[in-house]
Amino acid sequence: MLECEVQVHGAGWAGLAIAKGLVDAGVHVRLVDPAGPLGGASGRALGLALPTHPEHPHRLESGLGTTAAAALVAFIRAGLDVLPGLARVGVDWRASAQEEGELPLALAAAARIGLGATRTAEGYHLHDGGVVDLVALHAALVGPPVHPVAVTAELDVYATGAVALDPFLADKITPVRWQSVRFDGPALAVPMVSQHATVFWTGGRGGGLVAAGARWATPHMEIGEAVPEPEPRVTAMLERLTRQGFPDAGAVTGVQAGIVGESCDGLPIVGPVPGRPRAIVCTGFGIAGLAYALPCARAVVDGILGRPTTGVPAPLRVTRFA
Ligand SMILES: Cc1cc2nc3c(=O)[nH]c(=O)nc-3n(C[C@H](O)[C@H](O)[C@H](O)COP(=O)(O)OP(=O)(O)OC[C@H]3O[C@@H](n4cnc5c(N)ncnc54)[C@H](O)[C@@H]3O)c2cc1C
Repeated sequence: MLECEVQVHGAGWAGLAIAKGLVDAGVHVRLVDPAGPLGGASGRALGLALPTHPEHPHRLESGLGTTAAAALVAFIRAGLDVLPGLARVGVDWRASAQEEGELPLALAAAARIGLGATRTAEGYHLHDGGVVDLVALHAALVGPPVHPVAVTAELDVYATGAVALDPFLADKITPVRWQSVRFDGPALAVPMVSQHATVFWTGGRGGGLVAAGARWATPHMEIGEAVPEPEPRVTAMLERLTRQGFPDAGAVTGVQAGIVGESCDGLPIVGPVPGRPRAIVCTGFGIAGLAYALPCARAVVDGILGRPTTGVPAPLRVTRFA
């Protein structure tokens, strides 16, 4: 016996946004998460909202082609327009020494794919994106109650982040541990991305500076790590990089870890599972949850409700695996 119309698995940013969008449209929804709302990566994230995929523009363009890269950027930027609590201060990309030679390529590609960017002394400034007030965002996502146990449903949506709950995702999603270190020094006015987008810095909620990162301090680069416990070598590397760039960072006041879901090709996976239209997946946002989760969630809601929609850009669609 079916017990609800739509069951949404996962109460992170994606699942909360999908459940709320459906409930607001009058759909009978069950939202399921054994860890409760924001118990996964979304509850541990900083508020940095990138206006693009976390990759230099020329790399994005060479991977997807100019037209598809431009469509992806347009999709993300449209999502920023409705992202609650966003202060549009832009994002600074600070190039490491190894990235210096790429900067002219990055700026030329940014212009071709519709990303506003200006050269700075340390790299380039992306004009769009910025910092999200996570309290405001989370308040805007409050919807139906969260249940610990699943039931049978007419349609299941899997927004389970790093957990490949639907078997279709088993060979497509890998958990990657990211962690953050908080300092009590001055906050940054403009958030910053560095080290090939493996380190972010932004202001803390109650002031101070926060660094987040992964992917370089351990031999396995935190890939496959499913336990959200901080790794001391990553903490040490984040602290060292922060003190290099921000000598007045101050004392460490906290360390936290979370697990993000990275897809096999680095891009989100969104849409009905091939051959099983009653199972919809919406995951694989990696470290760019604020760029991707809400616009992808909206596309899922529009698709379920049969609203006219262009859906997600082709590189994010499940059909690329069909
Ligand atoms: C330290 C850190 C800093 C970050 N900083 C930023 C940032 O500044 N900007 C940015 O854009 N992104 C950032 N991110 C990335 C961002 O957190 C993720 O991209 C985003 O939260 C993913 O959202 P989600 O809803 O897909 O997944 P999650 O938030 O992980 O939600 C998935 C949910 O599924 C639930 N679940 C698991 N198993 C089951 C099951 N069997 N049944 C039901 N539910 C289940 C989990 O409990 C979880 O609540 C950061 C991540 C970390 C860890």
